[in-house]
Amino acid sequence: MKIPVYEIASVLEDVKTRMISEDQEKLDWCISQLLSNLSEPVIPPQLLLKSPSLTKEAVSQIEQHSNLLLIRQAKNDEEASKQLINNRMVKYTPLNIKQEINLPICNIDINDFYLDIFELAQEFGGVMIMCMYAQKIFAYWDLFLKMGIDLQDFLRYSKYIGEGYKPNIYHNVLHGAFVMQACHIFLLSSNLVELAEMTPLHTTSLLLSAMVHDYKHPGLNNTYLYLTNEKLAIRYNDISILENYHVAKAFQVAQKENLNIFSNISKEEYRTLRKLMINAILGTDMTKHSKYVTDAQMKLTKNTNFIEEKEFLISLLMHLGDLSNSCRNEKLSDEWSFRVCEEFFIQGDKERSNDMIVNPLMDRYKVNIAKSQVGFIGAVLIPFLNPICKSIKGMEFLLENAQSNKEGWGRRVEEFEDKMVNKGNIYERGFS
Ligand SMILES: [Zn+2]
Repeated sequence: MKIPVYEIASVLEDVKTRMISEDQEKLDWCISQLLSNLSEPVIPPQLLLKSPSLTKEAVSQIEQHSNLLLIRQAKNDEEASKQLINNRMVKYTPLNIKQEINLPICNIDINDFYLDIFELAQEFGGVMIMCMYAQKIFAYWDLFLKMGIDLQDFLRYSKYIGEGYKPNIYHNVLHGAFVMQACHIFLLSSNLVELAEMTPLHTTSLLLSAMVHDYKHPGLNNTYLYLTNEKLAIRYNDISILENYHVAKAFQVAQKENLNIFSNISKEEYRTLRKLMINAILGTDMTKHSKYVTDAQMKLTKNTNFIEEKEFLISLLMHLGDLSNSCRNEKLSDEWSFRVCEEFFIQGDKERSNDMIVNPLMDRYKVNIAKSQVGFIGAVLIPFLNPICKSIKGMEFLLENAQSNKEGWGRRVEEFEDKMVNKGNIYERGFS
């Protein structure tokens, strides 16, 4: 039986909680080494066990087709992939809590909404991307100076957060960095910092929320955790389980020595920042989506006084950032769509093998990916974008891109119908 690396890593994470802190650091290093050398297929182990609902052929099809980009490359082009992994291992050293971090010199344009994060990740690795994006974005808004944030504490914090994102297909460190950049672009193109009179504290709360908003995400949703009685569901009383977990853990990290990015702000500022971040991150729970749509219609289209609404705007932009993959160009939008579907399908596989009811949106045997994306963009994203893009000048391009991506998926519905698993022909992602 093959066990995915992330499963081993999560067992080690568990062991770590029962160790003394000196040993914890050593084990952290081992986990980082393990995750930086992803060479095992990420297949839920139960799929590889005998399951009455899965034929051997289906298992081998899933094994062949449902891997991460890097793993697929590793299979197709082993030599190049080994080289890539070796290079990254030379460049990448896990966080030592007292370490001085030097970012690579790289001329990336953080203001480019179409910047290809996947290409950059090939060169620098995901954790380094998180650090580079964070540093450039916070420097752009002059937050190191205005918030008194020590650059080295901030880089260590970013790296620690980056390392805590699990290597899920979708909810990984690149998602955190990508959403943070989306929020940066929203502020940039809307001029809301000026229009809503946002202080550096407000800007920090939005960008930092985006950076940490899925920290330690397990790749399974709240419903699954609730139905399986997972310890996180117990800890957070079934209420916004993951979102509570992400924000609580992110604040815990900042309490560690040499990672306290809040050390130079007053207690009052810290309390305000906490309140804004907790609201924004808890607001990423999709059960709150329709409330956002109604609130956006009520508060933005009927009231153009953004100053009064700045706290609402922070949560709104955070939620928009989280949903905005399909507002990018076709290449980035498609890549994230495939990834989110695959992560859902892995949960669906887990549900099937645990004899649970398989969520229809997560059933790889029933979902037409193109149709699901048309549905998501048309029924979830565009109704949310409409009031925002109508009321905030400079945001219109988000709606135009979403519409164009929806049309693009619409043209591919038949193609994906033919490629569906239940037609005996699992879909091809067509990674290049
Ligand atoms: Zn997210």
